Amino acid sequence: MSIPPSLERLVRELARLPGIGQKTAQRLAFSILRKDSPKARALAEAILEVKEKIRFCSRCFGFAEEDLCTICRDPRRDERLICVVEQPSDIYVIERSAVYRGLYHVLMGAISPLDGIGPDQLKIVELAARLEDGTVEELILATNPSIQGEATALHLSRVVGGKVASITRLAQGMPVGANLEYTDDVTLSQAFTGRQSFAST
Ligand code: ZN
Repeated sequence: MSIPPSLERLVRELARLPGIGQKTAQRLAFSILRKDSPKARALAEAILEVKEKIRFCSRCFGFAEEDLCTICRDPRRDERLICVVEQPSDIYVIERSAVYRGLYHVLMGAISPLDGIGPDQLKIVELAARLEDGTVEELILATNPSIQGEATALHLSRVVGGKVASITRLAQGMPVGANLEYTDDVTLSQAFTGRQSFAST
């Protein structure tokens, strides 16, 4: 196939995105090509801007444009609750289901010995520090229902269990082995409402 090099480059870059196969990448590239120049420029600039402006919130490690993210700065959020997730993107999955009004803490991964990820590489010390002043009453462990996510939840309950009155885990019903990301809104809100006490034995 003789496709002009610049077009081929765009297809190649698009195909690197998750869930985008060669065919979809081509379709997207042709659609970008059909856009007028200002629209194509707006797309390119949006990509650059997000890379330039987005950093991690200094408190919860979610995505932020300032030192603190919009959730941490919102006085209406219930600061007695912290929901612990693996990735910044998990926050938006939970926000979409609109069942939760507390704060978050992103671990930046899960314990996974095979990938060389131990507790020290996660934001656990930072989480423990947030529990020091006694404001937080409940820690909701929303790590993925995978082996790594379960191991991480267990580890957390052991190391920070003494610092908070209640530790809960999202209710069963979440597909085992699945990522939070792929859980539908209804299942997620049920898992939140039915969350159960979680303690290491
Ligand atoms: Zn934050």
